[in-house]
Amino acid sequence: MARIETDKVLLETYSYDATGREQLPKGVAFPESEEEVREIVSLCRTKNLKITPRGAGTGFAGGSVPSPNSIVVSTERMDKIVDIDDKNLLALVEPGVVTAHLQKTASEFGLMYPPDPSSLESCTVGGNVATNAGGPKAVKYGVTADYVTGLSAVIGTSEVYQDLSPVRKNVVGLNVTPLFVGSEGTLGIITKVLLKLVPKPETRKLLLAHFRNLEDAGQAVWDIMKSPATPSALEIMDSTSIECVRKYRKLDIPKDIEGILLIELDGTKREVKESIDKIKEILKRYNASLEIASNQKEEDHIWSLRRAISPSLMEIAPTKINEDVTVPVSELSNALRAYKNVGKKYGLPVVCFGHAGDGNIHVNIMTDRNDPKLWKRGIKAAREIFIITVALNGVLSGEHGIGLAKKSYLGLQINEEQRNLYKRIKLCFDPDMILNPKKKF
Ligand SMILES: Cc1cc2nc3c(=O)[nH]c(=O)nc-3n(C[C@H](O)[C@H](O)[C@H](O)COP(=O)(O)OP(=O)(O)OC[C@H]3O[C@@H](n4cnc5c(N)ncnc54)[C@H](O)[C@@H]3O)c2cc1C
Repeated sequence: MARIETDKVLLETYSYDATGREQLPKGVAFPESEEEVREIVSLCRTKNLKITPRGAGTGFAGGSVPSPNSIVVSTERMDKIVDIDDKNLLALVEPGVVTAHLQKTASEFGLMYPPDPSSLESCTVGGNVATNAGGPKAVKYGVTADYVTGLSAVIGTSEVYQDLSPVRKNVVGLNVTPLFVGSEGTLGIITKVLLKLVPKPETRKLLLAHFRNLEDAGQAVWDIMKSPATPSALEIMDSTSIECVRKYRKLDIPKDIEGILLIELDGTKREVKESIDKIKEILKRYNASLEIASNQKEEDHIWSLRRAISPSLMEIAPTKINEDVTVPVSELSNALRAYKNVGKKYGLPVVCFGHAGDGNIHVNIMTDRNDPKLWKRGIKAAREIFIITVALNGVLSGEHGIGLAKKSYLGLQINEEQRNLYKRIKLCFDPDMILNPKKKF
């Protein structure tokens, strides 16, 4: 059985996630097999201890922040790629496999695992499944849920739910697997995942378009999504993101640019060429200028600009309230205008960037947790952003999840009857409410 460690430094190390929220656990366990996970769950159930499943702790919702009186179950030692089945285009992996490692391994077989959260060098497949993580490629390839074809998980009774048939179609029994996807560790500890892989595209091109007006950039996203061009990434950066990144990276972008679109296209050479032609036509309508990366080095540079936004925001203010709302793409332009206006109303910078092609925008309210007045304004601004989003038929979170961070806003989107149904479903998997209690709903 995996030992439950209680060393003080270790407890502190596992007390927080990327939100910065903290709670000391009672202990940390590092199981190396499904059997060990079962034993830990059984022990916690007997001793009335709670359980906090944990991948790499990169979550932005507080999901892996320990619940009070809980044991953290870290999957970091369950990190094997059990099999790459290149005949059936499947990968069987343990939950602690780091996403980038899976991508590199699939690539050695001429295959691709598309879900690409920006944290992919450190986050785990288990965490991705539990949060239904997305990334830039979701606009063409979909999110983690679109790749989970089966899984194994230990539920709150210490029983194992397993569905690992390597088939493309299966209507036997109830389709329970999707319930675990996005469940944020509230229904079970995922111990194995069977994932779909796809063939690598023949070619890829990366484009960068500059707009003098942010709303035009938002409108162009909608035009691109309605056109036959199918981008494999369509990301937006507003002027504040651009200025923050400029402090860290060489940027040949004029000062009066209000919005940038980063557009990636992949497929056959002919498909990519036709898509570029379509996109050029659309950009002309907005007088947007266009650069096309001519080699891998230029592509890497452009992607590094996008990835530099999040860390560079600390230049503006010490604390960011980082929301990942999603609106219908047709409302993107309206949403961007409204979010920026919230910033003006509360006198706080509101930085917008992210997965525009999906309507999934990272809205960052820049404030200071240690200044009570600024912090209060930040919280009010966040609430207003959620209200605007729901009014535009959007949702509170497109990828980070609810965890602890957004739980108090859930009522803006989900009614009481729906929440009661979620609770009854949870009780089927976790009758003693030991798995990540009081999170998600
Ligand atoms: C710089 C940065 C960029 C990011 N970019 C993106 C992005 O582009 N897209 C995106 O979707 N997210 C992004 N995130 C958020 C985060 O990386 C994802 O939510 C990721 O899926 C979390 O994986 P993790 O292994 O770190 O899980 P953790 O943070 O450890 O856990 C996340 C949740 O999953 C649960 N969990 C973890 N493992 C298991 C398991 N085996 N069984 C059951 N439950 C489990 C935890 O209890 C928790 O509720 C980003 C985060 C950072 C810091």
